[in-house]
Amino acid sequence: MNPGARLLILGKQGAGKGTQALRLSRHYVVPHISTGDTLRQAIRSGSELGREARRYLDSGELVPDQIVIGMVRERLTRPDTSHRGFVLDGFPRTVAQAEALSTILSPKGLHLAIDLEIDTTSVLTRLAGRRVCADCGANYSVVDNPPRVPGLCDVCGGEVVQRDDDTEAAIRRRLELYERETAPLIAWYDSRGLLARIDALGSPDAVTERVVAVVDRRILRRPGS
Ligand code: ADP
Ligand code: ZN
Repeated sequence: MNPGARLLILGKQGAGKGTQALRLSRHYVVPHISTGDTLRQAIRSGSELGREARRYLDSGELVPDQIVIGMVRERLTRPDTSHRGFVLDGFPRTVAQAEALSTILSPKGLHLAIDLEIDTTSVLTRLAGRRVCADCGANYSVVDNPPRVPGLCDVCGGEVVQRDDDTEAAIRRRLELYERETAPLIAWYDSRGLLARIDALGSPDAVTERVVAVVDRRILRRPGS
């Protein structure tokens, strides 16, 4: 039996968080929780949350902490995640969110925070080529990972498009906010003995292998968890 895992992924826009989070969620058989995907679904569904969140996403600003923390708290207290675990993708993004998360997860806590390390030049190239399925959120790249049929999602047949917030201005703003609000979380998790730094360059398979090796070592070191 696969015992599950409690993981989160940090990294700049374009580091490959979504791709790796999805693969890790399959590997450890736990839900993939992406706050960005949840917010984009809310926008598509026209819910009140979606109407409130839209202006933040379009301009690359962070959605206020209370909103995102409430969303994540609700998801993490459902039985699938409280029993088997989760892979968090895009959360936390501020120290306030990290503090709230540690309260939500207490007393079990996390196994690891995985930082996908990549330089800014590489992420700008990746983001320019990034495409996403409008229906299921699957990620593609016009450079090295296009859908089999141009414009159509391999997974669900949905339309593959450029994200509304992958404009130059919104990308610049998101990277700025990453440096200011999210990068400090690397030291935050490191000082708590929870950080794994992983080189995010190379093929998706190569990166997954690196992450799984580190996570397995951590989980096996803590029997019973
Ligand atoms: P990226 O990593 O490329 O910025 P995401 O899909 O993770 O993409 O996030 C898209 C947008 O959703 C963010 O720019 C922000 O507006 C909002 N968002 C997602 N997660 C959070 C979060 N934890 N806190 C605040 N805003 C968030
Ligand atoms: Zn799809």
